[in-house]
Amino acid sequence: MNRRWVALVLVFFIGAGCRSRTIWPGVEKVMSAVDAERSYDAVVELASPSYAGRRTGTPGESQAAVWIASQFKDMGLREPPAFKEYLSTYKTPLYVVNSFTGIKASGTRGESFLGDRGMAMPYAGSGSVEADAVLAGFGVQMTGYDEYAGLDVVGKVVVLLRYSAPTRSVPESQTYLAAKVGSAAAHGAAGVLVLDMPSAPNPFDMHGQFVSALPDAPVSALVSLTGARSLFWAAGLSFDDLAAQAWAGQVVSRDLNLKVSLGITASWTPDAPAFNVAGVLPGTDDTRPIMVCAHFDHLGTDRSGVMYPGADDDASGIAVMLEMARSIVSLGAIPPVSIWFVAFSGEEEGLLGSTAFVKAAPELAQSLSAVLDLDMMRSTSGLGVAVDQSEQTIMAAVSGAIQDGASLAIIPWTGGSDHETFSRLGIPNCMFAGHGREASWYHSATDTAEDLPAAALGTAARDVLRVLWGLIGSP
Ligand SMILES: [Zn+2]
Repeated sequence: MNRRWVALVLVFFIGAGCRSRTIWPGVEKVMSAVDAERSYDAVVELASPSYAGRRTGTPGESQAAVWIASQFKDMGLREPPAFKEYLSTYKTPLYVVNSFTGIKASGTRGESFLGDRGMAMPYAGSGSVEADAVLAGFGVQMTGYDEYAGLDVVGKVVVLLRYSAPTRSVPESQTYLAAKVGSAAAHGAAGVLVLDMPSAPNPFDMHGQFVSALPDAPVSALVSLTGARSLFWAAGLSFDDLAAQAWAGQVVSRDLNLKVSLGITASWTPDAPAFNVAGVLPGTDDTRPIMVCAHFDHLGTDRSGVMYPGADDDASGIAVMLEMARSIVSLGAIPPVSIWFVAFSGEEEGLLGSTAFVKAAPELAQSLSAVLDLDMMRSTSGLGVAVDQSEQTIMAAVSGAIQDGASLAIIPWTGGSDHETFSRLGIPNCMFAGHGREASWYHSATDTAEDLPAAALGTAARDVLRVLWGLIGSP
């Protein structure tokens, strides 16, 4: 190599070195660009009545999608290929209840009426039924453990317990409400009641339930613990005793000597339009992008007009993601790898949006080097990071962030949000969450913007940026 070439090569390397150092700054710079109040404004926007609780498949959802897209456009993120105005559409089933009679039960001891909300909630089907009730335990059928064995349920109301006995290894797919209703229907049930359990009360939370499986379901309702006790009282039975036996793994199936009636008028749209929203910050290397995601859908507004604002779940995750994107874009720098910012819908109905996303773009999904999912940022003490301990790159980035002062705590990996969809593809992933489903405001009308501290959003954005910077590494 002659001297001129050596000099040229040196200039090139020094130039490249300088460029990467000046172009992609340290994390302190991007952290200082985070504006907690601006992030809070995004929560206020999405939790406002204009979006009616953002239920997937409703106008509130599509309007929220359009608003998020406008934010991506304003900050100058690139529109992904095959998206239109930053939106990608998919079809979702939409079940809307127009009226519910409540549940009437008459048995050997007396009569019970379980009214709408508080006691019972219509869940599936349309029509009315009046028939004898049969208890089929958790409705589980496995080798050597068949809770339908010897029962005649044709034309009857099948009464089922929620979840499954912890002492039996029942596949999770058999514990979903939709699976329970579906198998009762396959046995010829004319109606289904699923009863909340004393051991794990979770009134009316339908998170992760696959409503898409229920186009022709029998009329079905979820019954609260209070309702379940009242129902069994009419039959002269103790619900708590039977529930405890079932929880311990015993088969409690039997005729209840109870006549039950219920009626639901509902409309079913199998293919309502739903939307995912995405914006990309292209990096020097576009072959192994990182995705930051959150879900913008929530539970909507019920028939009595009560809106579920979903400020924490998950307007807060969207707000933090937007603030991270805006802060990164404001650097005016090209990241070493591309960063995808994605707002999913359909999460509450069972990860429908993220599932549609990976179906529409399987190669992109497979190429992701990491997925950071933000779900429920409300916290006063920092976020938990649900991560698989064997996921070395993410573990290293999170531990590094904690060492550098991030208020994050590593917790065992758990599914239940959109990162689960990517976990199924083997993509390294984690979920940031301020708390679990035990929070009093979780899936309740009290999940409002007023109760959410703006400072938490700033802390969350800065802490997740630290993790992102750790993952991106030096160019
Ligand atoms: Zn959520």
